[in-house]
Amino acid sequence: MAKHTPMMEQYLKIKAENKDAFLFFRLGDFYEMFFDDAINAARELEITLTKRDGGQEEPIPMCGVPYHSASNYIKNLIDKGYKVAICEQVEDPKTAKGVVKREVVQLITPGTVMESNMLDELDHNYIASLSHFQDGSYVVVYNDLSIGENSIALISHGWDAVIHELYNQPIREIVISPNLPEELQNQLYDKLNVTLSYQEEINFNAEYRSLCDNLNDERLVQSFSRLLNYIQYTQKRSLDHLQPAKVIELDYYLSLDMYSKRNLELTETIMEKGKHGSLLWVLDKTVTAMGSRMLKKWLERPLLSRQEIEKRHDIVDGFYQGFMERDTLRDTLKSVYDLERLAGRVSFGNVNARDLIQLNQSLAKIPEIKKTLQQFEQPFIQELGKDLVFPEHLVSMLDTSLIDDPPVSIKEGSIIKDGYNKKLDEYRGASRNGKQWIAELEQKEKNETGIKSLKIRYNRVFGYYIEVTRANLHLVPDGRYERKQTLTNAERYITPELKEKEELILEAEEKSVDLEYNLFLEIREQVKELIPEIQHLADTVSKIDVLQAFATVSEANNYVRPSFHEDTLFIKNGRHPVIEQVMTEGSYVPNDIELNQSTNVLLITGPNMSGKSTYMRQLALIAIMGQIGCFVPCDEAQLLLFDQIFTRIGAADDLVSGQSTFMVEMLEANHAIANATENSLILFDEIGRGTSTYDGMALAQSIIEFIHNHIHAKTLFSTHYHELTALEGTLDHLKNIHVRAEEYEGKVVFLHQIQEGAADRSYGIHVAKLAELPDQLITRANNILQELEKTDDSAKRENPGQLSFFVEEQEPKSRVLNTKQDIRLIRELKDINVFEMTPMDAMNELYRLQKEAKK
Ligand code: ADP
Repeated sequence: MAKHTPMMEQYLKIKAENKDAFLFFRLGDFYEMFFDDAINAARELEITLTKRDGGQEEPIPMCGVPYHSASNYIKNLIDKGYKVAICEQVEDPKTAKGVVKREVVQLITPGTVMESNMLDELDHNYIASLSHFQDGSYVVVYNDLSIGENSIALISHGWDAVIHELYNQPIREIVISPNLPEELQNQLYDKLNVTLSYQEEINFNAEYRSLCDNLNDERLVQSFSRLLNYIQYTQKRSLDHLQPAKVIELDYYLSLDMYSKRNLELTETIMEKGKHGSLLWVLDKTVTAMGSRMLKKWLERPLLSRQEIEKRHDIVDGFYQGFMERDTLRDTLKSVYDLERLAGRVSFGNVNARDLIQLNQSLAKIPEIKKTLQQFEQPFIQELGKDLVFPEHLVSMLDTSLIDDPPVSIKEGSIIKDGYNKKLDEYRGASRNGKQWIAELEQKEKNETGIKSLKIRYNRVFGYYIEVTRANLHLVPDGRYERKQTLTNAERYITPELKEKEELILEAEEKSVDLEYNLFLEIREQVKELIPEIQHLADTVSKIDVLQAFATVSEANNYVRPSFHEDTLFIKNGRHPVIEQVMTEGSYVPNDIELNQSTNVLLITGPNMSGKSTYMRQLALIAIMGQIGCFVPCDEAQLLLFDQIFTRIGAADDLVSGQSTFMVEMLEANHAIANATENSLILFDEIGRGTSTYDGMALAQSIIEFIHNHIHAKTLFSTHYHELTALEGTLDHLKNIHVRAEEYEGKVVFLHQIQEGAADRSYGIHVAKLAELPDQLITRANNILQELEKTDDSAKRENPGQLSFFVEEQEPKSRVLNTKQDIRLIRELKDINVFEMTPMDAMNELYRLQKEAKK
């Protein structure tokens, strides 16, 4: 076989070291890709696939993207979960002997992107690492490389807890050991939709030793090293903005399992997966990107410490009262740019002068923020300002060094102010003087030659030249002008003195551009030294922003400050914070709720669509809002501090996940039952619905009994099995409540109002009527119902003390069924699995059954 060309040899060698990435191989003004990379990239990026002769018989598939627009192509690949290795020429092609030396200078991966066009401004971009240990524990490390933040958590409750922890975090990539069992790797990939990367070597990287000083558990150190090594491997440079890992003690936070994070729509909605319609959407009245990111983090981890929560409430209260000052504060915060990401870019080395101007403008706002905080009456708000240390030196250095409106490029000058550097001033003086001299020369030549339109201009090819239009050529002095170029309408000339001056000007300009670049790098280094201070400022500003956002949203939506109690939860006129926003003002029906020592379990009955699950979610959302430090949507709130919230609500996305609804139901129920404590909140919506009636009802009852008798968690259980309401008679701490519905002119009107006691009937047929099923069908259903109720009553009389669903499904029922056809129809109806049908199929099936029924 023919040999590859030397350049292809070089390519193949580098590609072999970067197998799992697209290799962007720099050739002149292009990044080229070859072989499979080219074929795949052409497909993914929709660019033309070409061929190149590589010394072999077969030409090599090739495609390329221009260097200057590469970032959009890279973003496209990264968004799809791929990695891109950037391979540059690392020596000057002019001086290189043989093939120009090339090296991978950075491996861009979904979790390590730093470029602002690839990042969501309002969200973190995490890379995580996961390590597993012999004792069955796991350690998760999160890193947001764009801001240098690291946090680390030890999980000792098994694998499921790992998935619950990682779920819903903004993780793009997880670094694992290749030894992690494949089944677990698959789960990570399927459940979290992330890129998996491998890092075997976890020997400690000495450069980052100090980042681990606060970690006193070898497992934490090992996991952190795995991540740091991977970062080092991909970024290939030292990063000064990486912060020591903050240890997340999971026991300090209210724990929300995967199902609750999803069902409660805290940061994104189930259907659209967007922020709009989530609790975050309602609460996010922050005015900085940093604040918005912090709010999201707080929502993921509500607090457990009453003291910490009340500290936040105090501040929110202060901000709430001082609305004038708060307005001023918001205005000032609005002009604070993303300090965290700016600091990250300074460290990474891709910051430009415009970024530093933004940094400076933001830092310059610190005294104003401090002053506004001082204007609040409350000492604890004034205290907040103490953490804001104004980096006066840095600000004045940036003030005196950088031009207010610098260009994007840092290599073309016009960045540094006059007066900042003596040498630079000299070069600039020389260039300005030279230009002045040329302007004077132009005037002088005009006078001497009498050519009014004579011009002295500059271009890159000829430098400075004198231009005379064709009409005036006869006035050109003999001998003194040397012709350089002929145009249609003019001639261009040079003179020795013009060339001499040009040399001086160009030399001064070149030197000044070089010097400006070096000065900029020096300035950047000085900023680098203050990165920890900037990060600390950013953290405090974010906190202030979130707390003012809480005050702002609380004022706008009439939220009240909650208090916390040992054993009684009482919410007066509670509202669902999101639904009330999407409804016309005043149309949301508020409801009370009380849970105390004598009532742990509320059993909720009521027609479908009456508001049962809204009522349950409302409680969870109010609890979470209270525990993140926000005020809550009601007239009065005494809350309990919940340690965990478990939910089983809705079936909307179960079909998507491919598991049967009932299996998902049982998994979620089991998760709650296995982990809940008496301080937890459990919300079960229609448990048992996914299986046959008797089966489901029996399960529902036993689940309620188990929670009631063994777990004692505060529980809301909604059901359409009316028979379950009889449990109030046997379970001391269970109370029935129902959603009121009224009949008005033969129709049901949902009042969305919660009342004590059980609902008297199911209203299902009325809902069917609302859905405009044919009158004949409705009448028939009413008849069947009446017959069934009669049967049921007689069955109850025959089996006193027993719930009706324990009665065998036998003889009596057949009395209400008139014909064999009826029985068949009902069987068919029962066998339909509505949850596995498309709406169209359901319509067709309904149409068919109705046609049968009419026969
Ligand atoms: P269920 O769980 O009983 O089937 P939902 O809780 O899903 O009912 O509520 C159905 C719809 O009723 C909701 O989408 C909402 O628009 C409306 N709703 C629920 N509760 C209220 C309320 N308290 N005030 C006004 N509208 C409500």
